[in-house]
Amino acid sequence: MLTLALSKGRIYDEAVKLLGRIGIEPAEDPDKSRKLILPTTRDGLQLLIIRATDVPTYVEYGAADLGIAGKDVLVEYDATGLYEPLDLGIARCRLMTAGKPGMRLSQGARLRVATKYVKAAQRYFAAQGIQAEIIKLYGSMELAPLVGLADCIVDVVDTGNTLRANGLEPKDLIMEVSSRLILNKAAMKMKHEAVTGFIDELKQALDRSE
Ligand code: AMP
Repeated sequence: MLTLALSKGRIYDEAVKLLGRIGIEPAEDPDKSRKLILPTTRDGLQLLIIRATDVPTYVEYGAADLGIAGKDVLVEYDATGLYEPLDLGIARCRLMTAGKPGMRLSQGARLRVATKYVKAAQRYFAAQGIQAEIIKLYGSMELAPLVGLADCIVDVVDTGNTLRANGLEPKDLIMEVSSRLILNKAAMKMKHEAVTGFIDELKQALDRSE
């Protein structure tokens, strides 16, 4: 049995389409069933439905053999016990700095940056030679510049509508984000045939759509 961990929402919706292309369908809809372990139409594969930021943890500890996680989440998790065999190209977005219109991020002595992407933000500002104080938040980062908590934010941006609705604008690109297939290192050895077979199937489905 192979176990694949993934999160509800954008990643689940796009991953299910991809799995459908290799003939795999979840036996139930996680929004309706509330189950956290979902069997699939393939006997040897079940899905774990968990928080996006927990996916690397389940996979690193071997509670799931495989997982689907955004590159943004993987950069923050900084795993050493994982392989990342495939870029699935789904749930694409950009990790960006954002702030009030007209504000330039290189100005000022020391920037206050609100984000849940602490590691990515630290690395980015260090590489730019900009002194930054990173303030960790867990959500609604757009609020921080509006109420004076921070000069700017680092967040994932898709259409930019969330930023615009809050009077902010995207500034600089930190990295392009897409979801990756991740793999437990021990599962690669112990379940080699099943794991490599599954990866090859996904790879072929991706190659066909290019
Ligand atoms: P948008 O308004 O289209 O720019 O979307 C921005 C918001 O949607 C962000 O604040 C995120 O919470 C979320 N978001 C957009 N794309 C993704 C993604 N690929 N993965 C996770 N969250 C995303």
